[in-house]
Amino acid sequence: MTTFSNSRLGTYEQCPLKYKYQYIDKIKVEEAKTVEAFMGSCVHEALEKHYRALKLQKHNTLEELLAYYNHLWAKNWSDDIKIVRKEYTAENYRLTGEKCVTDYYNRYAPFKERVLGIETVEYVNLDPEGQFKWNVRMDRLDYAGDGKYEIHDYKTAGYLPKQEQADEDRQLALYSLWVKENFKDARNIELVWHYLAFDRELRSERTAEQLENLRKETLQAVKKIVSAEEFPAKESNLCNWCEYQSMCPKWAHLYKVEALPPKEFKEEDGVRLVEELSVLSEQKKKLEERIDTIKQDLIDYAKQIGVEVVFGSGKKATVSIRKDVDFPPKHSEERAELISLLKQEGLWGDVEDLDVFALKKIIHNRDWSEEILNKLKPYQEEKTTATVRLANLKKEE
Ligand code: SF4
Repeated sequence: MTTFSNSRLGTYEQCPLKYKYQYIDKIKVEEAKTVEAFMGSCVHEALEKHYRALKLQKHNTLEELLAYYNHLWAKNWSDDIKIVRKEYTAENYRLTGEKCVTDYYNRYAPFKERVLGIETVEYVNLDPEGQFKWNVRMDRLDYAGDGKYEIHDYKTAGYLPKQEQADEDRQLALYSLWVKENFKDARNIELVWHYLAFDRELRSERTAEQLENLRKETLQAVKKIVSAEEFPAKESNLCNWCEYQSMCPKWAHLYKVEALPPKEFKEEDGVRLVEELSVLSEQKKKLEERIDTIKQDLIDYAKQIGVEVVFGSGKKATVSIRKDVDFPPKHSEERAELISLLKQEGLWGDVEDLDVFALKKIIHNRDWSEEILNKLKPYQEEKTTATVRLANLKKEE
């Protein structure tokens, strides 16, 4: 039996190598949480405590809840918690968490929800045989009456998704499969995200068909991961939050050299080679720019004096000027029109998916009827190209 969770699948999608480190090699890294994760867990715990207390008819005041949040913060804070965004301090994050709790409290007090589950630990089958299971970790499950259930999720991220993204979200949608299977009276299951840092709520629902499709797609994705043999590193902005950065081939060299004293750093083989390559690449770029300028000057010079070959000492430069046609760029409206014209005329196969070289050749050889060639004219842009070829002067025999 294989159990997957949204974060496990998400880790693979973010970076297969990170997935391998975490879930296959099970490498434990002695690295503290990021401050974002720390703040998120303090807020989650405070809200969890609040709803658990409500179930036992204890109504915490906002002040009590904030006191608990700050107690968690002080008790669990450690100076090695990672602050990636150096322009912010731990205090900025603590205050953000406080604001999340305060806004949430003020928005939903006096808390009349009928809570069925808090921080659930459940599983739903992805396949009929029950070989692949999905972790169901709902922050909260409510019954809203009249066969309506609500799955709530608290988010402290500094990013507010659009409604379309919520409508595509996999995590809560898969949880609703579990609700459907376990509450036979469930007629509607609403997915509710609380974007606490924005004091905003997003809601979405799925049809039975969408849920079954999602189940199948997720099962396919999980099977693909289980049978994967290669786990390439996929670099992204999220690398800065990755606990395996120091052993990852995309970053390990940086970890190796960044602690070196300046002199040793400069002399380290890799650093030296990169520096040299960088200098040479810059020189190459400048040389290429200069070569292009000289070629253009040669073209102008050849045109001016009416010659095709310009001689130097031991070398000659042949200047070729020819007329050419160009077509509308890919993804432009005109390109789409041109493609549909070719298809309409039954000529699409001749240019092989708008192979502009094939099309140019046909136009040049006038292989199609005059009528078609005329229809193509509005899509052609006449242009003149000139090239310069440098060659050795042939010695006299
Ligand atoms: S640092 Fe980036 S590329 Fe390397 S394992 Fe982590 S997420 Fe993947």
